[in-house]
Amino acid sequence: MKLSFKETKPVMTQTQAVLEASRCLLCEDAPCNKGCPAGIDVKKFIRAIKFENFRHSMDLIKENNILPGVCGIVCPREVLCEKECSNTELSTPIKIGDLQRFVAEKEYTAKHKLSPTIKKNKTKVVVIGSGPAGLSCAAELATRGFEVTIFERRERLGGVLTYGIPAYRLPKRVVKQEINYIKKLGVKARKGTVVDSLDDVLNSGFRAVFIGVGLGKPMFCGIPGEKLKGVVEGVKFLEEVNENPKKVVIGERVIVIGGGSVAMDCACSALRVGARHVDLVCLEAPNELPAFREEIERAQNEGINIHTRFMPLRIIGKDGKVAGLKAIKIDWKIPGRFLPDNAVKIKGSNLTLVGDAVIEAIGQAPEPSLLFKGLKTRRGYLVVNKDMMTSKKGVFAGGDIIISKEGRTVVQSVAEGKKAGEAIAAYLKNSSKFK
Ligand SMILES: Cc1cc2nc3c(=O)[nH]c(=O)nc-3n(C[C@H](O)[C@H](O)[C@H](O)COP(=O)(O)OP(=O)(O)OC[C@H]3O[C@@H](n4cnc5c(N)ncnc54)[C@H](O)[C@@H]3O)c2cc1C
Repeated sequence: MKLSFKETKPVMTQTQAVLEASRCLLCEDAPCNKGCPAGIDVKKFIRAIKFENFRHSMDLIKENNILPGVCGIVCPREVLCEKECSNTELSTPIKIGDLQRFVAEKEYTAKHKLSPTIKKNKTKVVVIGSGPAGLSCAAELATRGFEVTIFERRERLGGVLTYGIPAYRLPKRVVKQEINYIKKLGVKARKGTVVDSLDDVLNSGFRAVFIGVGLGKPMFCGIPGEKLKGVVEGVKFLEEVNENPKKVVIGERVIVIGGGSVAMDCACSALRVGARHVDLVCLEAPNELPAFREEIERAQNEGINIHTRFMPLRIIGKDGKVAGLKAIKIDWKIPGRFLPDNAVKIKGSNLTLVGDAVIEAIGQAPEPSLLFKGLKTRRGYLVVNKDMMTSKKGVFAGGDIIISKEGRTVVQSVAEGKKAGEAIAAYLKNSSKFK
């Protein structure tokens, strides 16, 4: 079967959505609400679907999450709202993500005007980076009447939503619809513009700044052979695939290193751009993989050979090009600490794989930037207080670039962007807590 970049999971029909919403027990102290990092009133929006009041349902979601369609698709619901729902008397949890997606699709294609009426003020705020954190912060401020400009270094808005997550998982139409809605709120965007000086921004009339620049530095295993032709970094590979899959040449046998979302996306994308055989090598055991369940299942269903608990030792080369990978089976010294320095190599358990390309997808780190000059950082991440303000007054941050105990997800970035937007509004209104 030829795999394509078209989304395979269908959107619920209205009948399916209403029937699914009708299964909801409308629990008194709804556990699903506690499972949403963005603070959506899940119970209420499901109830509105049950009574076919779709517009109200969408309004309820948008109060807390400006990317309802995107999050309805990419949220790791099995560890969030749906996990909480599985603690109720229901035998299977309500398909909350699918319901949210249904209502977003329905309302975006409806003819009525979705943008609220906004009373504008003349205070200018700048948002640096247009990923989910930046978009959410910009929307929150625009809804409150501020004049918001997003500066984005790429030619398209959306951050990882546009250039990272592949289209078979997140249709770009959904991303564009939601960005268009945010633009209709009055948010302006300057694309292809790198910001590397806070002073320049603050001296050009902007009263506050939000930094949502994400993680731009690729990480590598640091093994011999990484300079060979055919070694590619995961996010870079996905970016090329998102730009134009027809232009990507990856070879027939591909080896992916990593066990997270990016690795699974690389493996499944490699199959779609012409690879016939994909091996994935990761340190973790199947139940330790950081990728979300749905992504692991997709990779397995599509025939990716997942080699768990293997540590790459070196990339094999021939005539300056990748020819394969050597790895070794490992165990953990301390259980639960899934890092290379905690691995014990099991003697005599070598694995040799043949391949034309190696995609390293083992994570990203903060990219050092002049933008962070004078701001408090830890391991390259920005440090913020409970109001999302950095060590510099008037400069706020959120999303992947901040030090956080929460997981790095789209919905978490949306939640932090909104929280920062609220805090910036309070700061600009001279709220006493910022004095
Ligand atoms: C391949 C991949 C798949 C993922 N899959 C999922 C998933 O299924 N579900 C999920 O919840 N999460 C997923 N994630 C994680 C999620 O995408 C991130 O947590 C989220 O995008 C972080 O949002 P952000 O706004 O902080 O940063 P980003 O989305 O990285 O956006 C940052 C933006 O800032 C811009 N920028 C950077 N520096 C500057 C500068 N100096 N000036 C101007 N602009 C700048 C960048 O170009 C970029 O557009 C995935 C991540 C990747 C890489």
